[in-house]
Amino acid sequence: MPALTRYFSSSYAQARERFLAGAQPVAALIESYAIDPAGSQGEPLATDVALIGDADARRLLIMTSATHGVEGFCGSGCQLALLDDAPMLERARRAGVALLLVHAVNPYGFSWIARTDEGNVDLNRNAQPFDGSPLPANPGYGDIHGLLLPPEWPPTEKNRRDIALYLDKHGQAATIQAVSRGQYTHADGLFYGGGRHAPSLLNLRTILRAHASRYAHIGWIDVHTGLGPRGHGEKIYAGRRDDAEVARARQWWGSDIAVPYQGTSASVDITGHLAGLIYQACPDAVPTLMALEFGTLPWEGVVHALRGRNWLRAHPEADEALRRDILQATLDAFYCGQEDWQGMVLGQSRVAVLQALCGLEAGG
Ligand SMILES: [Zn+2]
Repeated sequence: MPALTRYFSSSYAQARERFLAGAQPVAALIESYAIDPAGSQGEPLATDVALIGDADARRLLIMTSATHGVEGFCGSGCQLALLDDAPMLERARRAGVALLLVHAVNPYGFSWIARTDEGNVDLNRNAQPFDGSPLPANPGYGDIHGLLLPPEWPPTEKNRRDIALYLDKHGQAATIQAVSRGQYTHADGLFYGGGRHAPSLLNLRTILRAHASRYAHIGWIDVHTGLGPRGHGEKIYAGRRDDAEVARARQWWGSDIAVPYQGTSASVDITGHLAGLIYQACPDAVPTLMALEFGTLPWEGVVHALRGRNWLRAHPEADEALRRDILQATLDAFYCGQEDWQGMVLGQSRVAVLQALCGLEAGG
């Protein structure tokens, strides 16, 4: 049995190379969708797509990685393991299910060790209409923005005290809501949803229209990290507010699937999340959507890392040692390199894929 570590890469460039090499022998189609900026090693950046399956398949399972950039170290590993999983690929073929693996939805963040894209946009808050209608308000964010992004990093004692006071006054639940629900008012802030569609989001929409819209039934697993207990994969319903869709997701993935709009998830209820693109891009499909969210560090540690990363974005003059520290802290918040964690991730990812295949086969 080969070591699991072979599926997990140490850079975006390595992950991309391995994904393309792994897809080559099994995919019917491989395509790349570039974005303009270069990567941290000067490499070109692209979202790569591998479609596996027969041309007459009527059901599709999508697996996406790196919607949140740096979280791609985990999701890419899940995709590489699936490409190498001959029994599972055969199982999909027999079930009449094609597989669409979308590698590095946000290649900029993957390469530069950031959760957001080149414009500091959180792609999972960016699928808004941007047609002049009001964007979701998050007045609480403005109150805490200045504390989250202090002038100095690491934060001063005073900043730590002020944040503790804020938490005392508002409580942790309200603070998590204000920080992470998404905001459209502070372009340098955390969980910023943008003011227009991001290039990587537009690429994904093009990919869905080109490669997913002809299927009658679509399952989607979007792999994330950074919320929940270490190594635990929380299954988070990612579709719209629709009881039939929730019921179908429960039937596929189990009654423990968490539903943010019902308050049963570690994730806050967000709008503008990426999976929502499916409703416009594939209007005739019956979709069943899930984010698979693997835990790393406690929430406070993850937010601290995100604050540092946004501070670094705003302070390119930071010295090399501090820059390295911040990037390492960001990586540690969204990816655990230990083999036990990797094993937990791949085991749960494999179960989720198998469950989706069974669900698609039964329903299509
Ligand atoms: Zn995420």
